[in-house]
Amino acid sequence: MMENVIDSHTHLEEIADLDGALKRAAESGVSAIVAVGTNLESNKKALEICRLYKDPGYPALYPSIGVHPGDLAHIDSFSAFNFIEENIDKAVALGEIGLDYWYKEARKDGPGRRLQEEMFLKQLDVANKHNKPIVIHSRGAWRDCFDRLVHSGITKAVFHWYSGPEDVLLEIIKMGYFISATPSAEYSPEHRRAIEITPLENMFIETDCPVIYKPESGSYRSEPKDVLRTLKAVAEIKNMEIARVAEKTSRNAIEFFGLNK
Ligand SMILES: [Zn+2]
Repeated sequence: MMENVIDSHTHLEEIADLDGALKRAAESGVSAIVAVGTNLESNKKALEICRLYKDPGYPALYPSIGVHPGDLAHIDSFSAFNFIEENIDKAVALGEIGLDYWYKEARKDGPGRRLQEEMFLKQLDVANKHNKPIVIHSRGAWRDCFDRLVHSGITKAVFHWYSGPEDVLLEIIKMGYFISATPSAEYSPEHRRAIEITPLENMFIETDCPVIYKPESGSYRSEPKDVLRTLKAVAEIKNMEIARVAEKTSRNAIEFFGLNK
């Protein structure tokens, strides 16, 4: 049966056979995809792909632009930030942004962490000014990401691929923020636990493609159609019908990102 699902987090510019991947996604029932950028180059490409890849045989594409904490060490953050400020109204969301304390340069308090923090807060200001929802990367920094969001008065945020501690997750849910589930829902205990705890009302689904996932059945490089794997895993964890999970998570994503407008 075809499901009508939305892949809410992808890095389409990193996919080798994009035309084929988009066709396969549409054939699998993927109706819309959010193309997420992480630095100046990938933000430009995310906008460009969404402009150029318009075809009845493709899912509808929507861009999100932001500067990822993991990209800061290698880029001119000044031009990357300016691009966000100038182009944010062309995007449905601001992201992927956040903090990541697992990167070597940010493991301890120091300049690496301060740079992440500074860029994160500046982008939260842009989101507030332009009334855009936020896509959060929070690996190893779940509490600090949450605190900065609340402090900045952000009301719409999704913690992408949430696999952090339960106490922060409960506060995320209480604040009305979202988490998004990836295909690692098939096997990652931390991610499965987060999905179990989070009500369907606070969730949507994604692939983070082309991330390579490593389930017991064999590792694979993901593409948007693999959001169906996420869908099935979430339905299994929550013991719900696949159609119901598809319908609710799609509606959540449509509302959150303001799609179909
Ligand atoms: Zn991502």
